[in-house]
Amino acid sequence: MKLGIVGSLAYDTYSTPRGRVERALGGSATHAMLAAAFFTRPVGLVGVVGEDFKDRHLGFLRQKGADLEGVARVPGKTFHWKGRYQGDMGVAETLATELGVFASFDPRVPASVARAPFLFLANIDPSVQSKVLDQARPRFTLLDTMNYWIASKKAALLKVVRRVDALILNDQELRQLTGEAVLTRAARAALKLGPKVLVLKRGEHGASLFTASGVFQVPAYPVGEVKDPTGAGDSFAGGFIGSLARSGRVDAAALRQAMAYGTVMASFNVEEFSVDKVGRLRPADIRKRHSELRKMTQF
Ligand code: AMP
Repeated sequence: MKLGIVGSLAYDTYSTPRGRVERALGGSATHAMLAAAFFTRPVGLVGVVGEDFKDRHLGFLRQKGADLEGVARVPGKTFHWKGRYQGDMGVAETLATELGVFASFDPRVPASVARAPFLFLANIDPSVQSKVLDQARPRFTLLDTMNYWIASKKAALLKVVRRVDALILNDQELRQLTGEAVLTRAARAALKLGPKVLVLKRGEHGASLFTASGVFQVPAYPVGEVKDPTGAGDSFAGGFIGSLARSGRVDAAALRQAMAYGTVMASFNVEEFSVDKVGRLRPADIRKRHSELRKMTQF
């Protein structure tokens, strides 16, 4: 196993201008794993679900390449996120975050995940992210978070940020975390918090990679229609870390390639609700879009 992912396994209830879903399969770890498993398998998931989590969803994740040894099923309710997107769907408005079984989750990291060289701490309580990192020996760790945790658990978050190699954030989260309004200044401030790599996700405007040696930019892949942006960031992160894990490298060229695969995976994610598109994807679809993106950005 080359890659472990900790994060939420969730049921999501939300609406976008293109439709609405009720208790659809979601969660940061779910979306990230489904994208990453196109690059490396198995992906070791660490998380928790409640008694209401359907067997067919566990079966689906396993069939798509997840190793579920690190996923506990305990009495109580599965994490439930309720939200809404309006207008250009640029921001997710959270209506409710029902932590359920995640409120008291004490992660146990299986030996296979502890030994994996790549680790993605997907969006979840930063103290859970820390506890996973305590039990693992990764060569490269990527961390994601969101406004909810920056606002409610900033000290715990900064503590785990100090211990990771790379951060992946959207522009609003980057500003909130650093207190800097101008993105290039905010990026520099983030690189002073510990990580050597910052991936800045900017939705339809693409993504930027910041390191000590400079900036690399990728535009978003121009999809015909955006139905549901939920999980786009996690799909990006899954493609990014999956690509790194597959190559076994984290040098500048490998990071650029990872940015391209992150962009491709995010673009598929937004085309349908929940995990519907990424769950049905074939490797050939990814290769095709990757080569289109390359043509689009060559000059
Ligand atoms: P994204 O759209 O990539 O930011 O991620 C959306 C996913 O994050 C949804 O499937 C939610 O279940 C999950 N999510 C929402 N809020 C939280 C939270 N506070 N902690 C962990 N996961 C969350």
